[in-house]
Amino acid sequence: MKRRALLGAVTASGLAALPFAARAQAYPSKPITVIVPFAAGGPTDALARILCQRMGEALGQQMIVENVGGAGGTIGVNKAAKAAPDGYTLAFTHMGTLAVNIALYKSLPYDSQKDFEPVGMGGTNPMVLVVKKDLPAKTFAEFVDYVKANQKKAQYGMAGIGAASHLGGLMLNSMMKVDVLEIPYKGTGPALNDLVSGQFDYMVDQAVNVLPQIKSGNVRALGVSTLKRLPQLPDVPTIDEAGLKGYEVTIWNGFFAPKGTPKDAIAKVNQALVTALSDEKVKVRLTELAVDLPSAQEASPEALRAQLKASIDKWVPAVKAAGVKPE
Ligand code: ASP
Repeated sequence: MKRRALLGAVTASGLAALPFAARAQAYPSKPITVIVPFAAGGPTDALARILCQRMGEALGQQMIVENVGGAGGTIGVNKAAKAAPDGYTLAFTHMGTLAVNIALYKSLPYDSQKDFEPVGMGGTNPMVLVVKKDLPAKTFAEFVDYVKANQKKAQYGMAGIGAASHLGGLMLNSMMKVDVLEIPYKGTGPALNDLVSGQFDYMVDQAVNVLPQIKSGNVRALGVSTLKRLPQLPDVPTIDEAGLKGYEVTIWNGFFAPKGTPKDAIAKVNQALVTALSDEKVKVRLTELAVDLPSAQEASPEALRAQLKASIDKWVPAVKAAGVKPE
């Protein structure tokens, strides 16, 4: 009894002796929720989980992924924008929901540049045109002919208006000069399952999601979205070299916090991100999935802010020029 009382007294006085600043720096003192604005099992989800696992270890608190899909990621991103800015709710999203969809919605419930604090870039990922395995077209040129000849019945899958897969598909369709029915999903994880079972004809999605299914022969890859072929798919031409000159889309992903989140919390999460990005196991896993990992400098909040602005400046006019009407 006596001993316990003594210990209690020591602990209390020890705490009291801590300067106020040191006590306030206890962040994070509980798990952090990371909103992924797409369904589980897709590329944004996969990247978030790989990074958050390691970042949580570095922070000494779990980072818990919450999937909030719908409306091309707009619903989840809006939820993050309106969350308490206390460092315990973040979003892990991509350039579709924060840059591309500015051109695709008449009005958005958030302002990408004003309502968030960039935390850090998680990686850049190329896209791949994948088709259902029994589509008659075997090459990219045959694919273009097939879609042109079957515009009334061809269908492509995407994760909603403004999603990365929507950008990939709409730029492809615009350059092929075709108008094809789009099938929206809450994420390209569930969309890919339906492509594997042949429910629609094609999709352009991040390599993270599609490489395993290409390797297993469940879908076929007919083109990659970068100007250089991917080492993971050396026999697959770039869409640019296969006939659509100038087609190039890569998708960056990043962590964002609601506006007003304390700088200290942002710095700590950023530090954990840099630790995760330099972890050998994380590097190997992400490189297998064709993710281009940022350096510590490229992963800084300032670099992500600049990247967001550059993407808005690039994609908003490009999408408008593709002739897609905002919804
Ligand atoms: N890759 C998807 C997109 O098209 C989203 C996802 O499911 O991660 O934006």
